[in-house]
Amino acid sequence: MPELPEVETLKRDLEKEVVGKRIKQVDVSGMRSIRRHPNKKHFAAKLEGHKITGIDRRGKYLLVKLEGGDILVVHLGMSGQLLRSKGAAREKPDKHTHVIITFTQAGKLRFVDPRTFGELFVTSPEELPDEVPELGHLGFDPLDDMMSWTRFGGMLHDRKAKLKALLMDQKFVAGIGNIYSDEILFAAGLRYDRSSESLSTQEVRRLYRAMVETLQDAIKHRGSSLADEQYRDLFGEIGDFQSMHKVYDREGEACRRCRSTIVRVKANGRSSFLCPQCQV
Ligand SMILES: [Zn+2]
Repeated sequence: MPELPEVETLKRDLEKEVVGKRIKQVDVSGMRSIRRHPNKKHFAAKLEGHKITGIDRRGKYLLVKLEGGDILVVHLGMSGQLLRSKGAAREKPDKHTHVIITFTQAGKLRFVDPRTFGELFVTSPEELPDEVPELGHLGFDPLDDMMSWTRFGGMLHDRKAKLKALLMDQKFVAGIGNIYSDEILFAAGLRYDRSSESLSTQEVRRLYRAMVETLQDAIKHRGSSLADEQYRDLFGEIGDFQSMHKVYDREGEACRRCRSTIVRVKANGRSSFLCPQCQV
């Protein structure tokens, strides 16, 4: 599932590629992708004729701002992709393309989603908190909301939760999922099941720094594309941060730091990858 680095990569590309463009036509072939709208017409009418004025990211959600104030919300779910296409040449039909947005100045944006957990919908800023209650309760953004180590330490202390579960809790911090929580905890030298109130001042600093640096590194490498739900960027390319993963999906392989064997632990139905030597 795409996490903050993948969505941020998409956001930055969309800023360059579609901001300022006007939507000419919207074609929907997969109703499930626009399930919050009663029908295709209702969805298309809210987009057609409008210019895209900006792109925002909240956690793992993309907010495409439209002239007039409405917002096209994009959630990629497990396997959603937003792909740019030139539009001039005839494209190969793809049964997983559910929505096609055509711009007046040529060019298209396709929403492709094999597993159909992703979705698109148009709403107003006022209605947004009701449409996606999760957005109203999002925790801080690790990239946009800088904070002091003392404040971060205080938040960790108050929550008294296991570190991996806490990093993945969107109400605590927005945008981190299964992959990056494991990578962040390795970088911080902390175990997934350490209790958040047990961290020393030094560990709090290490965790904060690991969180910011891991996410920034991943963005630099255009995110992680795993073999199964393969993430693609706006141009259809895979990211390359997966080749730099230190623990995620590396069970049985040697730790890049100490050569111990990376293990996979299951807790509460979720896998964690870690180095038992490097993480305490
Ligand atoms: Zn190690």
